[in-house]
Amino acid sequence: MEKLTHQFIANKWVPIAGQRRLDVINPFDETRLAILTGGDAADVDDAVRAARAALPGWRALGGRQRGEWLMRIADALAHRREALMHCSSINNGKVLAEAAIDLDDAIACYRYYATQAGDLEARQGRPVEATMAGVSAFEYEMPVGVAGLITPWNFPLVTSAWKIAPALAAGCTVVFKPSEVTPLPELALADIALEIDLPAGVFNLLLGDGEGIGAPLARHPGIDKLSFTGSNGVGEAIMREAAAGTRNLSLELGGKSPIVVLEDADPEQAADWIMAGLYFNAGQICSATSRLIVDQRVVEPVLAALSARIDALSVGDPLDAHTTMGPLASAAQRERVRGYLARAKEEGLIAVRDEHHRTLPEHGFFVAPVLYRDVPADSALWREEIFGPVLCAHTVSNEQDAVALANDSDFGLAATVISGDAERARRLGAELEAGIVWFNTEQLVLPNISWGGMKRSGIGRELGPQGLAAYLELKHVVGPSGD
Ligand code: NAD
Repeated sequence: MEKLTHQFIANKWVPIAGQRRLDVINPFDETRLAILTGGDAADVDDAVRAARAALPGWRALGGRQRGEWLMRIADALAHRREALMHCSSINNGKVLAEAAIDLDDAIACYRYYATQAGDLEARQGRPVEATMAGVSAFEYEMPVGVAGLITPWNFPLVTSAWKIAPALAAGCTVVFKPSEVTPLPELALADIALEIDLPAGVFNLLLGDGEGIGAPLARHPGIDKLSFTGSNGVGEAIMREAAAGTRNLSLELGGKSPIVVLEDADPEQAADWIMAGLYFNAGQICSATSRLIVDQRVVEPVLAALSARIDALSVGDPLDAHTTMGPLASAAQRERVRGYLARAKEEGLIAVRDEHHRTLPEHGFFVAPVLYRDVPADSALWREEIFGPVLCAHTVSNEQDAVALANDSDFGLAATVISGDAERARRLGAELEAGIVWFNTEQLVLPNISWGGMKRSGIGRELGPQGLAAYLELKHVVGPSGD
């Protein structure tokens, strides 16, 4: 068992200043993988100081050279791919095939922003058309400064890549706090920084929980940019902290995303996409399409196809190649989901599949895959993010009602539309209030397509050019033209 007693600051492993002990647990067998000494505000001070000291040199390097560093990070991650899949699987509980998708996503993200960094340098000082005769204007994009990055536990190495890669590409230096639930895969980033000899202080990693590291990082005046992925409650607390000093902020928060199945859809195909949108990662996906809005003309075959697929899920050891759904990532998350299952009983929801439909392993933080039908639109299970393998279905009789119900949510992160007519699905998708809408496909996540939410799902976008812009300040230099 590992003892994690050091922070990664300015390319050195330094003893953690805090005293609180946190356990890192394997969610499949409930054994302790590591004991973590939770850091505190003194660690944050040291890391921010290191990041500030490194900022002028990193900024001055220029985008092309920063892109070369990002490419080295991607290569080093690729080199460790198998080991990190294993590490992510035992720390988070995700099945190996899903851990492989995560690694490939993270590597692609570093590569994408390596290219973006080069493009950024190429467009510095580009002339902008001025609308007044005799005036010339030029555009520059400057790094925001020192970035404080805080991530959750559901996609280790992925949510961090979506922040670290664009921040470094932009010329920001970074203080990164991974989730205390899944710190183990993220530690590889510090090893990689040492291995490739990244300039000291450009990347700093702090271990600890929200109280010890997250909150002091969010309120630290030396942080110019805060980027957070996680729950709404914590996101709003961070927003309040960012108000002091009028600091730049990006938030990727919760969701309660709809998946609309029209009457002309193929039920079997629809069921495949519904499964992938909800039971992937045991439902612990911020973009989980957990509200199934299905036309009454196709509801029975869709629910039958879903039931067959739910029964076919192999729930167990995430390291076993036959397993298709692992445990939830923590005991706390399991309790949270169980709370919703109890609530479903109180509300009298109709279960197509509930927790009694299968026997779960005796140990581990498992929850059975669950499907409710005819869930009222005012049910807590319909409106609140559950973050587990719990799908709620509601029947409609036309596409207008489907759109209205889909948009009747506090959240607006993602949505899916499935139809036998792709053009119809795309048209309906354009009416949905979500940062990303898929039509007739599973959830495709690509580094050049932006990610982020409307309404309570967040502020700003990650990935794509917008993900880089989140770490840049735009500057125009204006004066008389030479001629
Ligand atoms: P969480 O908000 O509890 O924790 C997220 C991170 O914030 C952790 O690193 C935690 O230590 C830290 N933290 C906790 N309290 C803090 C504080 N007061 N100040 C600063 N940092 C603090 O969320 P979680 O339970 O780890 O993750 C689940 C949530 O994340 C879900 O609601 C999910 O929807 C959301 N999520 C969103 C996206 C997205 O892209 N929109 C992606 C993944 C997860």
